Amino acid sequence: MNDPNYYAEEHNSVGMGPKKIRILDSTLREGEQHPGVSFTVKQRIQIAWELDYFGVDQIEISPIISHDHAEATKTIIKQGLKADIVAHGRALKEDIDASLKCDASWVAAYLGISDIHLKDKLKISREQALDRAVKTVEYAKSHGLKIRFTVEDGSRADPQFLINVCKAIEEAGVDRISLPDTVGILTPKGMYNYVKMVRSEITTPLDAHVHNDIGFALANAFSACDAGVDQIHTTIDGIGERTGIPSLAETAVALTYLYKSQNDFRLDMLADLSRLIQQYTNIVPYDSKPIVGSSAYKHKAGTHLAAILKNPAAYEPIPPRDVGNRRTIVFGELAGKAGAEYLMSLLSLKKDINDAKNIAKSLKNLRMGDLLEIPLDDTVERKIINEEKKIVTCAECGASFELVKASDGFELKPAQTVGEDWGQ
Ligand code: ZN
Repeated sequence: MNDPNYYAEEHNSVGMGPKKIRILDSTLREGEQHPGVSFTVKQRIQIAWELDYFGVDQIEISPIISHDHAEATKTIIKQGLKADIVAHGRALKEDIDASLKCDASWVAAYLGISDIHLKDKLKISREQALDRAVKTVEYAKSHGLKIRFTVEDGSRADPQFLINVCKAIEEAGVDRISLPDTVGILTPKGMYNYVKMVRSEITTPLDAHVHNDIGFALANAFSACDAGVDQIHTTIDGIGERTGIPSLAETAVALTYLYKSQNDFRLDMLADLSRLIQQYTNIVPYDSKPIVGSSAYKHKAGTHLAAILKNPAAYEPIPPRDVGNRRTIVFGELAGKAGAEYLMSLLSLKKDINDAKNIAKSLKNLRMGDLLEIPLDDTVERKIINEEKKIVTCAECGASFELVKASDGFELKPAQTVGEDWGQ
């Protein structure tokens, strides 16, 4: 079995949702709602370019917040990017008008439909909400716009009323409906049931907009896909109101590697996109953050180091360079004999089992935890792994051969150097 992920993928493929799942990135709208975050107009334009180059399907921005936001929206729309630019606002004619002034062709309108939103926030009845939703969609369609409608707090709304609203706006010609879990209250199973219920009543394409208050956002986004949603809302690093929404990196990697979705993402931009947002917001993602975190590809325990040396796929689901991250080795009291041998190779010291044992013992006796971290660049990594594989190079022709055990001693085989060929 050449693919180390083969059996895991067999488990994953049972009951999987649609083959192509899209991404709407809302770093410029939801992301700016994160406490302390405010981009300049130039930064908004740059982020839009980067997201478009990365390959997201839609980019959401709100022109109604300020004059600057309207300016940024207008300029981004003018760039003629491949992604749809979705101008976001309330379910009001004046907000649709603000989007029209920016020459938007896609708009998004939201309206709270749970009893708490209707009664305590909007102070309108269900009948008035239904009427407002339909009128908003009709108004957008009468101006030749494409419109997504978000039934805000839909997961806490009376299910029958939710269905009534969805059916009424579908009849009015809505292009997409976003099913949010606004306060992140659903379990993955609950999310599946919520989406499935709506999916069985209407045919309009669905989005999932899920919040991370309990930590279920990413799982809920994919439960929604299993139930029929074909677009997930993300932000870079998952920033957003309170605890945010699914991160672009995790969603895009899960879509590509686990869901086998046919997207065209430049995944090797992910670490840089995270750094860009870090630079603009001063929000440093926690070190164990999947995909982009500084420890996402660090290896520490001796047994792990020994396995990584032979085949990195033993402890890495996806190669770090595919997502723009890098592999780092941590040396300290957990390194063990294998780690000490690794360290000796890095320092070009002759490997000796007794020396390695002594170094491992000394590292333990120091009781200083982790002593050093070594990021592995390609040349260092190749050198060590080739040494381990006993690669010899012909002095005359420069070809590499690997010394492999045969029944009657050793034989030379054309070498496959590590760095290009593993984990494909
Ligand atoms: Zn939100």
